[in-house]
Amino acid sequence: MKVWVCVFISLIVLIFSCEQKHKRLTIGIQPLGTTDTAELTQVTTSIQAIFDAEVYILETVELPQSAFVNIKSHRYRGDSLLLFVMRNKPDSIDFIIGYTSQDISVTKRNIDGSIKVPESKYSDWGVFGLANLSGTTSIVSSFRLKGNKALFLERLSKISIHELGHSFGLPHCINDSCIMQDAAESIHTIDRVELYFCSKCHQRIFGKIGSDFSSNK
Ligand SMILES: [Zn+2]
Ligand SMILES: [Zn+2]
Repeated sequence: MKVWVCVFISLIVLIFSCEQKHKRLTIGIQPLGTTDTAELTQVTTSIQAIFDAEVYILETVELPQSAFVNIKSHRYRGDSLLLFVMRNKPDSIDFIIGYTSQDISVTKRNIDGSIKVPESKYSDWGVFGLANLSGTTSIVSSFRLKGNKALFLERLSKISIHELGHSFGLPHCINDSCIMQDAAESIHTIDRVELYFCSKCHQRIFGKIGSDFSSNK
């Protein structure tokens, strides 16, 4: 009798752990302040086209005033926004992208931690987006993307997928056409790369997703 009870409990534990391992990948888009619905829809569509994921647009929250700076111009500090979105991430969401139409900035540093020279340029440096490598959270700003509507939306999709790539653990890639290439301070890099991962990055990212999440395909 005791043996059967143990077998029964083991089966329940096994089924439970399988369910835990094979849950669907869920990605949340967190609008920060006023955002454009068409832009959010475009980001959602692009993510769904590339990742086998459930994507949700979350309820808008206001940008935290604690992240606001006026050093060179009106901006929100990307690192502060990253922490803010990370802390407010619902447990049911695996990865989250904070999305804003405001300008965001970071301090660009050398490997030793010192601010890049000239400091006046790099202490508050405007960026398209940022993410923690292998973290759960990224931030995307549409402020610097410009271009006509089609180009703007393509740039927006590329930035969003690029930052998600970092969240999944991908570093920058040296392949000229790979979406994980470092933008290197230029919008032209974003225009040059494909809206997809090179074969090396593809293998790496989808190997990880496949081992951690279930597929609907
Ligand atoms: Zn990057
Ligand atoms: Zn690559």
